[in-house]
Amino acid sequence: MPLSSIEKGEKNSKEIVHHRAQSPLVWGLFFVRRGRFSFIIIKESSECKARAGILSTAHLNVFTPAFMPVGTQATVKAMSSEEVWDMGYRLILANTYHLYLRPGLEIIEAGGGLHRFMNWKGAILTDSGGFQSYSLIDLRDINDEGLLFRSHIDGSEHFFTPELVVEIQERLGSDIAMVLDECIPYPSTKAYAEEAARRTLGWARRSKERHRRDDQLLFGIVQGGIYEDLRKENAREIVALDFDGYAIGGVSVGEPEEFMWTVIEWVEPILPSSKPRYVMGIGSPEDLLNAIEKGMDIFDCVLPTRLGRNGCVYTSEGKLNIKNARFKDDFYPIDPNCDCWACKNYTRAYLRHLYKAEEILAARLATYHNLFFYQKIMQLARQAIMEDKFLDFKREFLRKYKGAKDESG
Ligand SMILES: [Zn+2]
Repeated sequence: MPLSSIEKGEKNSKEIVHHRAQSPLVWGLFFVRRGRFSFIIIKESSECKARAGILSTAHLNVFTPAFMPVGTQATVKAMSSEEVWDMGYRLILANTYHLYLRPGLEIIEAGGGLHRFMNWKGAILTDSGGFQSYSLIDLRDINDEGLLFRSHIDGSEHFFTPELVVEIQERLGSDIAMVLDECIPYPSTKAYAEEAARRTLGWARRSKERHRRDDQLLFGIVQGGIYEDLRKENAREIVALDFDGYAIGGVSVGEPEEFMWTVIEWVEPILPSSKPRYVMGIGSPEDLLNAIEKGMDIFDCVLPTRLGRNGCVYTSEGKLNIKNARFKDDFYPIDPNCDCWACKNYTRAYLRHLYKAEEILAARLATYHNLFFYQKIMQLARQAIMEDKFLDFKREFLRKYKGAKDESG
């Protein structure tokens, strides 16, 4: 069976099982490689580093490149799990720090684990809390042992060690766990970046030693700020620990955009091509396409959901601020080129009215459309890689997307 036929199984996990049964050679190679999971590249671009792959997790197979909607509190804001699934998403992100504090591990375990608790039948990646230690937590202390922080909910003090963070994620039952890392702000001195990279490496080693669940993947995270020698050294040391996949952390933290691409270019050749690569916290449609071109596979970002709630919608011709007065009598769909449920049934004028009236359906329609738009980009990007015309696809997409006036600021 050609791989293109397997591709068509993406929308239906039962169909994938069917293909697996019918093609023992392909799927046999696929599953023998690592037993509990594997990552296979099924097509590499001949023009750039873009690749299309299949990541096998405990729950199902995830086709890459993949964008993960952010479900911080065990919910992709304003969406039901069924809606996210029906759009074609198979991997979402949830947050260790938030779920540990509320509702707490006991409740989630009593509810049958994170998947059952939120009724999500796809795969879940849980982040480690490292990013929250930089962005959100009232951090009281950070040392080689771990992070001491105060809860943003009730002010209680907690101490996260790399071992505890692995244990929390094992109890949540996520498909992919992330090691605890120290994410530093931009700008940071080289001395601080070096200290954080050293700490991140030590924590990665301890996380690997503590990890027990063989139905859960564990990804390492590369840090090192914007310093080439630190990034490369940290990448080599993290890779030497042999994780199931690798993330590039500490990007999109306020640094000039060109630094983000430079960091990815430094690290990419060091990451084994046989393992999935995850760029944490990006990004815009342009960012995703650029990162795919540079050989990255997995992404997460709050942009489509957060901007949707704020009245900003993505279209094939750029972003629109739907609250703008010019949409008050615009009875076109949000994006005439989109065939999502929101675009097929509602108009820009209606959506604008909902925002003005502060109706919660506004957030639902815009979030649905934006996530659908992102998923479509990823599907088209993947298809373009399979047909070895990714750069043409990217050029044509950006010509339309960037050609129109961007009014979102
Ligand atoms: Zn739409």
